Amino acid sequence: MVGIGVSAENFLSKASSSGIQVNREALAQLAIYERELISWNRRMNLIAKGDETNIWSRHFLDSLIGWSSSLSLIPNSLPLNPVILDIGTGAGFPGLPIKIVWSEVKLTLVESVRKKTLFLKHLLEVLKLNDVNVICARAESLAKDAKHGNRYDFVLSRAVGSIEELLKLSFPLLKGSGKLTAWRGEEAPLSSDSRVTRCKSSSYGLPGEPHNRKIIILSKGDSFHGC
Ligand code: SAM
Repeated sequence: MVGIGVSAENFLSKASSSGIQVNREALAQLAIYERELISWNRRMNLIAKGDETNIWSRHFLDSLIGWSSSLSLIPNSLPLNPVILDIGTGAGFPGLPIKIVWSEVKLTLVESVRKKTLFLKHLLEVLKLNDVNVICARAESLAKDAKHGNRYDFVLSRAVGSIEELLKLSFPLLKGSGKLTAWRGEEAPLSSDSRVTRCKSSSYGLPGEPHNRKIIILSKGDSFHGC
């Protein structure tokens, strides 16, 4: 059974009204994700205890609607098998719910806290997901590695650092055509950085949440060639 905050029907209907189709297999995988997350959260601090009954909304829907909103800001920009990096993924957000629903994604999750990466590796085994890589490292160190520099179509990040910090972390990792997609609160501080003032953004609500969420998308190419 799905969490108390949002029922399975609410989850599917909210996802569907946001243009996101979640098939039966993905729904079953999300249910396993919820179960494992609650179980591991008893032993380690993966999400706030108060969020355990709101995983379907605050974590799954937020990840999925944020991604879908960002794609609607850049129509026709999604490659066939997008190569995506999620910086500071914690318990897998936003990258893993996206991978579960958009299975064609090739995903790398980066997290500096080892015990969180142990949870992620366990989850990947249970879910039997392909094309997902978990790295225990600070994102700063990845850009220096030829395997990661200039490689990604998208860098995603939710609840990690300021937008300026994310620009510094993500742009060396993105391809020339790549994009940074950042999940922010609607009241996230504005920035005077000219790359940020030119960004595209979109707001959305989540069931039972008083404040809207905001997705911000910045193209690496725009910062070099202007909009
Ligand atoms: N993105 C997840 C979410 O929205 O639920 C986790 C957010 S949590 C507030 C921030 C996470 O980013 C922490 O797990 C932290 O260890 C990780 N982190 C912060 N800076 C990082 C960096 N430079 N490289 C890798 N991980 C980082």
